[in-house]
Amino acid sequence: MRKVLLVLALVLSCSVLGYSWGFFGHKVIQQLAIYALPKAMQAFYHRHMATLVETAVRPDERRNSDPEEAHKHYIDLEAFGSNVLQEMPEAWSAAAAKYSKDSLNKYGIVPWEVVRIKGLLTQAFYRKDTDSILYYSADLAHYIQDAHVPLHTSLNHDGQLTGQHGLHSLWESKLPEQHLATYNLKHAKAQYLSNPEHEIWQVVRESHKLVPQVLSFEKQASQNFTDATKFTITERNGRTRKNYTDAFASAYHQALGTMVQDRMRAAAERTASFWYTCWVDGGKPDLDKLLSTPRTKTENKQLKRELKAWKKGNLQEKDLLLTKIRISLMNVVEWVQEKIA
Ligand SMILES: [Zn+2]
Repeated sequence: MRKVLLVLALVLSCSVLGYSWGFFGHKVIQQLAIYALPKAMQAFYHRHMATLVETAVRPDERRNSDPEEAHKHYIDLEAFGSNVLQEMPEAWSAAAAKYSKDSLNKYGIVPWEVVRIKGLLTQAFYRKDTDSILYYSADLAHYIQDAHVPLHTSLNHDGQLTGQHGLHSLWESKLPEQHLATYNLKHAKAQYLSNPEHEIWQVVRESHKLVPQVLSFEKQASQNFTDATKFTITERNGRTRKNYTDAFASAYHQALGTMVQDRMRAAAERTASFWYTCWVDGGKPDLDKLLSTPRTKTENKQLKRELKAWKKGNLQEKDLLLTKIRISLMNVVEWVQEKIA
């Protein structure tokens, strides 16, 4: 029985471990972004919702095979001095002239990758190329969403410099997986971004300003826990793994207040705004004409239902999130881990 449970835990946990926003978070944010689009774009994106949600994590999957991928997901701002938020030029050429291309590549390029893919998506709209529109919509969304995670903007990206190893996946995976049911996921509609480069830098600045709280609230929550109540210890393939307990994750989440929810909502809103901006800059092609078959009444009805639930902030209660399965998988993994611990 113990062996069966161990295998089950390994299989299930492999399917839920991610690099950023957890796979679960990226997929939820991707779905939310579709609801914030203007009518002229919504039918197309809604028709392809399952694809967009599924491919929201493709850039993370590429990290395993492409050595050029990882640095596109973050920027370790402290590497550029203590006044980096004031001193870092937003444009790539100016930043490279100031700090050298090598240093920028070494410490991460997420804001510039967003700008680069923004250009590719705009061109895809201009060409009315459905495959490329979907491909670059998903990739662009992923990097925008990563930039909303505070620890994606810090050298101390896993709390490793302050004795808080494991903080990365606690904040961006375990917390939203555990608490999503309580979040209000309504956010603002897409807006045209007259300066996308400046916008993504705003995102990075907001995220970076939250880093001290991400770290200090963990320390604060830890005061009421011992190692035995804060962690569960599991062994996998001869390697010991420390996981945060549900009780500690809840205490940390409470200390953070609405931070995780707010960053998810902001990420969804920005994703939609970038998609919308690319569509406008790409000449506002008629996306309904790109659908291989006309919209059906059932599809329209379903979208209406989802939009209503999104506006009320109750997609979760209405069971309308495509990624809901992740919650139950996580619960199973934790249950099994507790049983075999
Ligand atoms: Zn990522």
